Amino acid sequence: MKINGGKLYISKNNGEELSLDVSGFPPNYVKNTFSKVSASVLYDIAKTGTSLKLNDQVAADDSGTNGFYRRGQIQLDPNSTIGERAVKLLAHECGHMCDDIDDKENAVKAIKKYLEDPFATIGVDKPRTVNELLESQGTIHPVSIGDETLKETFAKEYENYKKNPPNVNSNSKYALTSLNEFFAESYSLLNIGDCKSAYVIAKYFPESFARIKELMEQNRALREK
Ligand SMILES: [Zn+2]
Repeated sequence: MKINGGKLYISKNNGEELSLDVSGFPPNYVKNTFSKVSASVLYDIAKTGTSLKLNDQVAADDSGTNGFYRRGQIQLDPNSTIGERAVKLLAHECGHMCDDIDDKENAVKAIKKYLEDPFATIGVDKPRTVNELLESQGTIHPVSIGDETLKETFAKEYENYKKNPPNVNSNSKYALTSLNEFFAESYSLLNIGDCKSAYVIAKYFPESFARIKELMEQNRALREK
């Protein structure tokens, strides 16, 4: 990883070099956060074409999270994103980024599930077919929600978890909020070796975690095509 002219360069073993625009970030953020997050995370950001932005309007929510991912962009609060916490936050938001792929096949399946007639139209003023809807909205389908194996594995492990839950604060259980959050926390754990839910995931959800690892690898292979 090297920095030059507001750009961060990441090289892969195969010689491919990608760059990220970090011109909006202060030098200490680059030094303390980008340099500490793993190269695989930076590579995912660059490969998905995701942009990064500091935004002091991003306030902490109940979980203490000071950032979010929205289609194609990660926004981070500059006031509370320094040090170890910033590294975890960036990795977590990259988890959401990797959960969000263009997956036409799964998107069609998901939409058809909600429609009895696959050729039915949606919308009153401007009726559209499923295909037209997909065309206009894109085919965003979170990997975590679309995967049946993950859903089943998670449900099974969650049943066991409920029988003997740990006495930890809500932050440490953040991954259990939803499958999207479980994916993002697992991504962080896989790529930087830590996340706020690390204990709960490692102790109670090893199979779900293993499935996320597989999904993440599939997701990366898809991007390489
Ligand atoms: Zn999240």
